Amino acid sequence: MNTNDVKKLYDEYVLSTYFRQDLCLVKGKGSWVEDIDGKKYLDFFPGWVVSGIGHCHPLVTKRLKEQLSKIMHVSNNFYNEVQPLLAKKIIEYSFPGKVFFANSGAEANEAAIKLARKYGNPARNEIITMTGSFHGRTIATITATGQDKVQKGFDPLPEGFKYVPFNDIEAFRNAVSFKTIAVLLEFIQGEGGINVAGEEYIRAVYDICKSKDVLFMADEVQTCMGRTGEMFAFKHYGIEPDAITLAKSLGGGVPIGVLVVGNKYKDVLTPGTHASTFGGSPFISAAALAVFEAIEKDCLIDNARKMGKYIAKKLESLKLKYPVIKTIRGKALMIGVELALPDASSVAAEC
Ligand SMILES: *Cc1c(COP(=O)(O)O)cnc(C)c1O
Repeated sequence: MNTNDVKKLYDEYVLSTYFRQDLCLVKGKGSWVEDIDGKKYLDFFPGWVVSGIGHCHPLVTKRLKEQLSKIMHVSNNFYNEVQPLLAKKIIEYSFPGKVFFANSGAEANEAAIKLARKYGNPARNEIITMTGSFHGRTIATITATGQDKVQKGFDPLPEGFKYVPFNDIEAFRNAVSFKTIAVLLEFIQGEGGINVAGEEYIRAVYDICKSKDVLFMADEVQTCMGRTGEMFAFKHYGIEPDAITLAKSLGGGVPIGVLVVGNKYKDVLTPGTHASTFGGSPFISAAALAVFEAIEKDCLIDNARKMGKYIAKKLESLKLKYPVIKTIRGKALMIGVELALPDASSVAAEC
């Protein structure tokens, strides 16, 4: 098969919900990928933040092969030996609490939404989110997402969400009502264009939440696993969220979503109130555990800080040369370049 044969099959059998480039990738190693015709590319787009530690990291591949030869799936009505090791690892890097395993970022956020609603039930059920945010593509998470473009055409949307402008303390203070049960926000808006939350803003929102028994929930689906120069981005802000959600690069290439909750909320979701068939299966858990191991072994968080500084410096010098570069934003290796163009696709195509 060549790229065209593959394309024809897609055209005939796969729903066209994505914009795709004419590129069929068949191999990946570290920062390099290879297409079906044997052409190699340096990968600047590791799949929406999935391949954060590179393609087919040897440690992840090794652990998955080992697990594959033992057992792939164990129902959550039994124990498996890998899931709790991953849970322990996640808690060690976050805060005292417990985790729930799902299969995607959207599902992790769904779990967070359910946690908040169950905790507030019946009096309080309103969740505040930010304009420009992104929380997933399920019905509840497109509603949580503060962008019209992802919601359009999917009415009726569920009730109980309220939007405020990002980085605006007063707007948040004014939006909190007797019905508010939680805030859900990203420390760095990914989809929204690499918008970094200010330290003062996060601390103010956090203090308001603490004083009103409102859950402070952070969507770390994109900011997790060292990309920002800390394992989790909340560490930059000197606060301890009530809940965080993780996904994307946590799986090292396999699908995972995790809700982490602080001890205060560990008994809100009781047996029978939430579940996921594949959540925390030994195969997936082995991959995520290996991602932590690889980050520790290869000192990838230090590397993210170092390389982040390097690339930011290089981008700043490009900015002096090319006025088309408007601003450069981000932390460590989570960087956005805003262009003084209505549409960046021509620049992307040329790259
Ligand atoms: C991608 C993303 C999601 C959704 O994750 P999926 O795994 O695609 O469901 C949620 N929140 C943020 C911040 C994301 O970037």
